[in-house]
Amino acid sequence: MRGDFKARRPPQRPPWALAEEAFLDACTRCGACVPVCPTRIIVVVRGYPEVDFKRGECTFCGACAAACKDGALLTAESPVGPWAIKAQIAESCLPRRGVECRICGDHCSVTAIRFSPRLGGPPVAEVDAASCTGCGACVAPCPVNAISIT
Ligand code: SF4
Ligand code: SF4
Ligand code: SF4
Repeated sequence: MRGDFKARRPPQRPPWALAEEAFLDACTRCGACVPVCPTRIIVVVRGYPEVDFKRGECTFCGACAAACKDGALLTAESPVGPWAIKAQIAESCLPRRGVECRICGDHCSVTAIRFSPRLGGPPVAEVDAASCTGCGACVAPCPVNAISIT
């Protein structure tokens, strides 16, 4: 079973998770982090918790980390940040195909998605990686599923 996890790209664990191998060793699959998430983005896959941004965003409330008593998720007070993931926009993004759209920008509370004017087409969405927190709030609203958090 563990060989399966290590063969594929690691799933997105909840914030403040240990590095994947250490996480799998520490997590007892108790499920304590799942029900405490106010935005319900933590799901269980093969017994372990993963974040599914199609369900919503992470508010970095820290409830999941506080619920983990096995050390698989560090506490929200940890000097280590919650994660290093950022939003990425694929070529399927509507403005890149000549269709006006700013939906993702409307959902980003830190204005990390900028729309650069250009000749001959609508402004193109671009992520400012330095500002992006990886919260995932932009993922579900995108009408063409062009945003991934990686
Ligand atoms: S920090 Fe809060 S919102 Fe984010 S995954 Fe954990 S419980 Fe959910
Ligand atoms: S919501 Fe989706 S299609 Fe619209 S600009 Fe953002 S990434 Fe592109
Ligand atoms: S992941 Fe969050 S912070 Fe980053 S661009 Fe999307 S909404 Fe903005």
